[in-house]
Amino acid sequence: MDFEFSREHQALRKLVREFAEEEVRPATRQADRTSQPPLDVIKKAAAIGLLGVPFPREYGGLGAGETGYCILMEELGRVDTSVATVIGAHIGIGAMAIYLGGNQHLREKYLPDLCAGKKIAAFALTEAQAGSDAASIKLRATREGDSYILDGSKMWITNGPLASVMAVLAVTDPALGARGGATAFVIETRHNGSPAEGFTPGKYEHKMGLHGSPTSALSFDNFRVPQENVLGQIGLGFVVFMQTLDVGRVSLGAATLGGAQSVLHHALEWAAMREQFGKSIAQNQSIQFMVADMAAEIEALRSLVYRTAWLVDNHKPFIKEAGMCKLLGSEIASRCVDRAGQIYGALGYSRDTDVERSYRDCRITEIFEGTNEIQRILIAEQLFREVGVKIRP
Ligand SMILES: Cc1cc2nc3c(=O)[nH]c(=O)nc-3n(C[C@H](O)[C@H](O)[C@H](O)COP(=O)(O)OP(=O)(O)OC[C@H]3O[C@@H](n4cnc5c(N)ncnc54)[C@H](O)[C@@H]3O)c2cc1C
Repeated sequence: MDFEFSREHQALRKLVREFAEEEVRPATRQADRTSQPPLDVIKKAAAIGLLGVPFPREYGGLGAGETGYCILMEELGRVDTSVATVIGAHIGIGAMAIYLGGNQHLREKYLPDLCAGKKIAAFALTEAQAGSDAASIKLRATREGDSYILDGSKMWITNGPLASVMAVLAVTDPALGARGGATAFVIETRHNGSPAEGFTPGKYEHKMGLHGSPTSALSFDNFRVPQENVLGQIGLGFVVFMQTLDVGRVSLGAATLGGAQSVLHHALEWAAMREQFGKSIAQNQSIQFMVADMAAEIEALRSLVYRTAWLVDNHKPFIKEAGMCKLLGSEIASRCVDRAGQIYGALGYSRDTDVERSYRDCRITEIFEGTNEIQRILIAEQLFREVGVKIRP
């Protein structure tokens, strides 16, 4: 057993930490206040190779695997959950669906531009009536010659207002339902910045937090996709999408790990500095218990995230652990933000602090990429499978 990161992974962490401190941090408050994604920061991330961290070099990536990708997400999550979400949706679910489901032609066609940041990616699964029940999607893909025609809409899509390449799941055979009759496609929604024919970016969501990460609906009306853009097999797109989300959940755990670590750091600094009743508040056992609980949970999460990344990189089963990364990561980060807010007192409620922003930004991590209730169901399903019991048809 070796708990050391490789020299390459250590160098990557140093690179990302410097980038996050020097480029991401100064842009964070402005993006939160204006709800404008910091596009120049994303461009700079691309320029130093960060948008291709997990992918093999032959597709323009850094070849740092899931472990490297978790390092990227942890370090970005430490500074700004919004930027981590824009980059996470681009790499970890948008481009990842093309990598996992695409044949050699599609990988070579799309991944180099995505790794170089020439194009931004999104992952479009959710619809108005299909959230947790993703199998009830209705976006229709109808065969016409050697193309498919998309009609319908998606909603709540991260990077929807920015992306020109999207992985999208649509129903190709309604009689079979989504599990056997849905197909994944890679589509091009914008050309030179203008919406492609048949595509309309929908309503821009005004959210509680994550203001630097744009979210929107998508609308398709007679939108043509060449048949060669199918990811995986026709009718088996649900598998591609679920596999992609499994990998994405590990890195979401890493982003929440970074966020939790950051609020602990702030809470320690503040507790050491703030005096009440003639002494530092850090001398109160109630404060000590809170920071000790935070640190213990963060350490446990760190082990889980990087062990799961190791499972992914070594081609071992990881679905149960991925669900745990997402479940525990989001709940540990929420508890840490809550405790940090308590330690900060009134100041933690002020828009002048990062703790207040973290509070708003963190809340969504218990909801997106599969709610925590759904994670518990998926984990239980795997546990029962291990003892030979199938709890879902
Ligand atoms: C900021 C943001 C970004 C997003 N980005 C993307 C994206 O890039 N791509 C994308 O496709 N989607 C995206 N989503 C959508 C997100 O994944 C869904 O919101 C999420 O899956 C939950 O779906 P829902 O909101 O419809 O909730 P619902 O499914 O309606 O769930 C409501 C509540 O009921 C619970 N529930 C539902 N079914 C069960 C059950 N069987 N057992 C127990 N409890 C249950 C849920 O856990 C939840 O608490 C994003 C959402 C947000 C807010």
